[in-house]
Amino acid sequence: MKYLVTTFYKFFEQTPDEVKARREWLLNKGRELQLKGLLLIGEEGVNSTLSGEESSVNQFKGHLLEILEQEKMTFKDSYADRIPFRRWKVKVRDEIVTIGHPGLVPDREKNHHLSPSEWNAALQEEGVVCIDTRNKYETELGKFKSALDPEIDDFQQFTSFVENSDISKDQKILIYCTGGIRCEKGILELENLGYKNVYQLDGGILNYLKEFPNQEFDGECFVFDHRVGVNQELQPSERWHLCPHCGNPADQIIQCVQCDMDEYVCVHCLEQEKEKPEVKTCSKNCAHHFKLGHKTNKPHLDTLKKKGRSLPENL
Ligand SMILES: [Zn+2]
Ligand SMILES: [Zn+2]
Repeated sequence: MKYLVTTFYKFFEQTPDEVKARREWLLNKGRELQLKGLLLIGEEGVNSTLSGEESSVNQFKGHLLEILEQEKMTFKDSYADRIPFRRWKVKVRDEIVTIGHPGLVPDREKNHHLSPSEWNAALQEEGVVCIDTRNKYETELGKFKSALDPEIDDFQQFTSFVENSDISKDQKILIYCTGGIRCEKGILELENLGYKNVYQLDGGILNYLKEFPNQEFDGECFVFDHRVGVNQELQPSERWHLCPHCGNPADQIIQCVQCDMDEYVCVHCLEQEKEKPEVKTCSKNCAHHFKLGHKTNKPHLDTLKKKGRSLPENL
């Protein structure tokens, strides 16, 4: 059975009383529909990735628009073979995406959003610069062909990358991320620094792939759950796994030197094989026993457990 995963956000004003009442209502509705995931709600809007049976998720979208009194939202859908989240949570937050400046809220009057087809056209213009705002472990899976990769470890490093580059304040800058929310705040920060011509891909990579698979975006799109990535058809990645040693995306298959099980390990851990031969194990547990020189060929329980990763709250 396939489950639907949907990602969405919207900036709009709500009073503290509305936030409180809507939180309760959405929490109960999600429970009733057996959804899993995290929804952040605050005076500046909502931000969420959630999952469930396809019909339940679609029902919830309708209820959400109604209770929040919104005409539309861009829902970015993808598919999973099992629900990526364990629990259903609705949390109140001052900032629905963390950048450390509460109150820096996107101006809804100005339109900085390019639809996927406008984005394709803009990429062809002369003198534009396209920048990926995501972290290094995300861009490893794939990115827009012509995009600069700042190789950052954290979104908060993004603006200093631009400031320290030779991009001029008048140059047309195209930015993108997974679902668009990081760029909303990225644009504000760049405008505060004097960059006048910044645009973002509306709905991010997920929205782009829905319309234009196998075009300007190369590879797969990293997602923050057990799927690790989704492919050009928005289906769970078959190539990428999570490295048992560092938790980053992994696509190198090894045979565990301790228990003989096959496992995927990341290239960065494998690069350290000379100094740390225990990286050629299938789990932290096998690495531990290997270092102690224990002999065993039995697979350990923790290697058989399904791997999972929870959704970071700030995305
Ligand atoms: Zn690793
Ligand atoms: Zn092992």
